[in-house]
Amino acid sequence: MLNGVKRFITNGDADMKLVLARSEEGTSDARGLSYFVHDKKWGGVTVRRIENKLGIHGSPTCELVFRNAPAKIVGDRKMGLIKYVMSLMNGARLGVGAQSVGISEAAYREALKYANEREQFGKKIIEFPAVYEMLAVMKAKLQASRAILYETARCVDVYKALNALVTPERKLTPEERKENKKYSRYADMLTPLLKMTSSEFCNQNAYDAIQVHGGSGYMKEYPVERLYRDARITTIYEGTSQLQTVAAIRYVTNGSYLEMIRNEYESQEIKVSDAVAAACPDAQARLEKVKARLVAMTEQYEKTVALMEGKPEEYIDFQARKMCEMAAFIIESYLLLLDSLRCEKFIDSAEIFSERAQAWNNERHFYIYNCNSETILSTCKNVKGDLDIVYQE
Ligand SMILES: Cc1cc2nc3c(=O)[nH]c(=O)nc-3n(C[C@H](O)[C@H](O)[C@H](O)COP(=O)(O)OP(=O)(O)OC[C@H]3O[C@@H](n4cnc5c(N)ncnc54)[C@H](O)[C@@H]3O)c2cc1C
Repeated sequence: MLNGVKRFITNGDADMKLVLARSEEGTSDARGLSYFVHDKKWGGVTVRRIENKLGIHGSPTCELVFRNAPAKIVGDRKMGLIKYVMSLMNGARLGVGAQSVGISEAAYREALKYANEREQFGKKIIEFPAVYEMLAVMKAKLQASRAILYETARCVDVYKALNALVTPERKLTPEERKENKKYSRYADMLTPLLKMTSSEFCNQNAYDAIQVHGGSGYMKEYPVERLYRDARITTIYEGTSQLQTVAAIRYVTNGSYLEMIRNEYESQEIKVSDAVAAACPDAQARLEKVKARLVAMTEQYEKTVALMEGKPEEYIDFQARKMCEMAAFIIESYLLLLDSLRCEKFIDSAEIFSERAQAWNNERHFYIYNCNSETILSTCKNVKGDLDIVYQE
């Protein structure tokens, strides 16, 4: 029998609910939680309210009240969070990554269309450097987000396809087992980077789409104001960007991202296909420059991570997001570079994104490099002193 309240449940009035609930009295940690299934027909659950939200108005978000609601346990007791919800969440994070790519794409298309129609000072606004730069960067962020989405989905597909081969009569060969382990690990490593960066990029793209529209973008008549509101949830649900960092940081500190970048991406030969060479004669030279930039960025990332040696955990947590993003920007740049070898449509974005990524990573590296690790935590903690002012007011 489930009792309690669950807030913020998407499509909460569904026929079938999967519920994470505390099954072990007196516990407060993850081991006290089990996983349950509840069928609407069994009764005991009411929708107390539907939330009034900033965006995603097509998706009802419910507050559910459980009063002696009959439920059946799913799988092993006490493994609710550790085993089932963690695995479910990785799938959902991939989904939010895809949702972010969708919103980014819509924002980019709206901005591009508007910039091509609107005239100011006798010119289409797409002719102004400030506007075409914004559009080119939006496109690069969009293509980078899609590249890491597909790469993550590919890793998930590979290990799931291998899992699907297993039957009572058919075990995986040692080689298949090795592949399975590798791709399952890669999927775990890439998922938080995908969720964090593509959701942040989709918010940036929605912001810039409004900027391209000027005053009109602020009006309800144009779809970009809705995209801006819809984008906002993507950095929050299925784990905030800060929680994606919590999931990803161990792969920074144990060297897994560095190893992945070097083994999977840096090791690949940069040789454009005949079709790309025909369509874009300078492709090979342009992409070799991108590769050289990425090799340098990887060395810089390695040096940045080395600065964490011997530092307390709180300091590493403090700097974690910057290092996770550095790894993500390098991986995304490499994916665009590798896409460019097969199709010339990615070359501009490979250049633009990697140039930007280098600037973003430089900023992160020099911030960490110059940070006074002895004092920065206490200096930032001073913000708590402002609570007195807030409460007095
Ligand atoms: C529209 C909508 C739909 C939703 N749908 C569902 C659903 O269907 N099912 C469901 O179960 N949930 C759902 N949620 C809940 C959603 O997943 C959570 O709101 C989200 O994960 C953030 O948790 P929180 O609201 O408790 O924020 P908090 O955990 O209170 O976070 C507040 C702030 O503190 C930061 N923070 C918290 N912990 C840490 C930490 N350890 N390290 C660093 N920073 C931290 C966060 O990043 C954030 O900035 C939905 C939420 C919304 C808004």
